[in-house]
Amino acid sequence: MSRIVLRNVRPWGGDASDIHVDNGSIVAVERASATTVAQAPDVRGEVVDGRGLLAIPSFVNAHAHLDKSWWGKPWVSYAGESGTQGRIAHERAHRGELGIPDLESTVALVRELVRTGTTAFRSHVDVDLGVGLDGIQVVREAVAAVDPGLALTVVAFPQDGVLRRPGVLDLLDRAAAEGADLVGGLDPASIDRDPVGQLDALFDLAERRGVGLDIHLHDSGELGAFQFELIVERTKATGMSGRVTIAHGFALGDVPPARQRDLVERLADAGVSLTTVAPITASPLPLDMLRNAGVPVGLGTDGIRDLWGPFGDGDMLRLAGTLARLSGWRYDEDLRSAVEIATCAGAGFVGRTAHDLAPGAPADMVLLDAENLQDAVTRAPSRDTVIVGGRVVVGPGAR
Ligand SMILES: [Zn+2]
Repeated sequence: MSRIVLRNVRPWGGDASDIHVDNGSIVAVERASATTVAQAPDVRGEVVDGRGLLAIPSFVNAHAHLDKSWWGKPWVSYAGESGTQGRIAHERAHRGELGIPDLESTVALVRELVRTGTTAFRSHVDVDLGVGLDGIQVVREAVAAVDPGLALTVVAFPQDGVLRRPGVLDLLDRAAAEGADLVGGLDPASIDRDPVGQLDALFDLAERRGVGLDIHLHDSGELGAFQFELIVERTKATGMSGRVTIAHGFALGDVPPARQRDLVERLADAGVSLTTVAPITASPLPLDMLRNAGVPVGLGTDGIRDLWGPFGDGDMLRLAGTLARLSGWRYDEDLRSAVEIATCAGAGFVGRTAHDLAPGAPADMVLLDAENLQDAVTRAPSRDTVIVGGRVVVGPGAR
């Protein structure tokens, strides 16, 4: 039966409504009359009782690393050196002992992420001389095994560098040829020590294969800002507007305000998006400035319980609350914006034109017992129900 009615929920904290779903997509959102709530008259199709709960779109994790985690395994104590290079080396030295990339751990992690309401992922997946493209296969299998309705966008990610590891560029090219949605990059200046070289190679590959780019950029200050400029220039030159993302982009948080405005204008002009993981150790991104300029910003967890570090539980609502706190947000509209960044604003990062409680969007939703969005994002109550394509996958009546 493809028709489903989700009865008596409060979309975005508004009035009690019924959400009509057909064939996995929302077809109508109608304000519920007192009669329909009380008497639940017959409708064609299955009826799910929303019990007056708050309804929001499901979470979109716009920056995940689903292949890396040791979730579900016995505790792994961190023993690597500090810094990006130290963590890369630590991971390469020890992932084999843990069987990473591991189907079982990835399934366990995805299941946990779905439990807290995430149903769409943009996952970077390591592609390097050690694991080749194996991780991509593991992540695809794991996500499909948890639920075939989950959305997955794959970034073939050169975690160990591009130009400094001859052969990696060919692997990225193969990944793109075999269906990776995007190709990644990593600190073109500080890892490859050749920012122009890495970016030229990546843009050339992306243009040739018709895939997007999502580039990790940890470099701070002017070194990072310089690479923003290089990325913007190449995005415009290749006509890749709307298909290039900078992940982290810490530099944008720590350059002076005038330089921030300059970079944000360039991002908006070139159609380059950003993802943040709400890091507590970096200067917050100028989210208000980005929002006003129309630069898409997605929120993601980054790695969770992996050889880079033991933290993270994948709860995107809690992460949205952290983002709000780091940004100094307390007004209602800002708290709403934090929920939007974690949900509907992520649409473009997972190849969707809409991800909302509105006709035309996939019926991916979360129900929770909260007074309103502000209450939800500041308290992160447990998720009552998670719905994928109109099907209840977590909560009462899940199947
Ligand atoms: Zn990352």
